[in-house]
Amino acid sequence: MSAGYNPFSIKCYCFLIFLGIILICPKTLQANPKKPIFAKQKKTIVLDPGHGGYDNGALGPEGTFEKNVTLDLARMVAAELENTCRVILTRTDDYFLNIPSRTSMANHVKADLFISIHSGGSFLHQASGITLYFFKEISGPALTPDTEPSKPFERIDNRSPWSNIQNRHQTSSKIFAQLMLNRINEQTVFKKSEMLGAPLMVLEGADMPAVCLEIGYITNPAEEKSLRDISVLSNIAQGIRNGIDDFFEKVR
Ligand SMILES: [Zn+2]
Repeated sequence: MSAGYNPFSIKCYCFLIFLGIILICPKTLQANPKKPIFAKQKKTIVLDPGHGGYDNGALGPEGTFEKNVTLDLARMVAAELENTCRVILTRTDDYFLNIPSRTSMANHVKADLFISIHSGGSFLHQASGITLYFFKEISGPALTPDTEPSKPFERIDNRSPWSNIQNRHQTSSKIFAQLMLNRINEQTVFKKSEMLGAPLMVLEGADMPAVCLEIGYITNPAEEKSLRDISVLSNIAQGIRNGIDDFFEKVR
């Protein structure tokens, strides 16, 4: 018998494969409405309480350290989000963490959002209000929040390899900042608020939508008092959570 092409054998072989698919597929391919194949994943939010350890941040007239307010607020936001999101804090206690480590952590866990939390500081005691920053490169090196109230930002020359990766998320970061600011404004006693683009080092290496929230001026006596008030911080935390919900509902 010839060992060459045999059309009959090939047809039989194909028929057997087709029969196998018919018998197996109804069980394996049938959709199960109770167990979707692609279950909805929880979003990962990285909260970054500014400063820590020897870096106290700005100092209030009554002796309140910015580093403590930022950690208190981050913990409250985490509590607000714990049932709906995967939440990671860049620092969980009073220790120093450099700025590139903060965004590196967010990139490592592939966060969906990065929120750095600070308060403002100024020698001008009347300086007040909430500012929500998104990353916007202007020129020169990125700026970093500084510990000295007279210099809220200091120029940094040693740029990270991730410099400016935040540029590609600028539009979504700006939308997120506006949504969050709208929601915080519903909740707080702070009368002034604004949104600004700035080349902040704390945002430049984040490879996801990212904002830096400066929640009031700790150097302003009235705002320092508010930032020491647990109920005020709790309201701000709810505003942040609502802003996050809005962002995921409307944008992603
Ligand atoms: Zn700060």
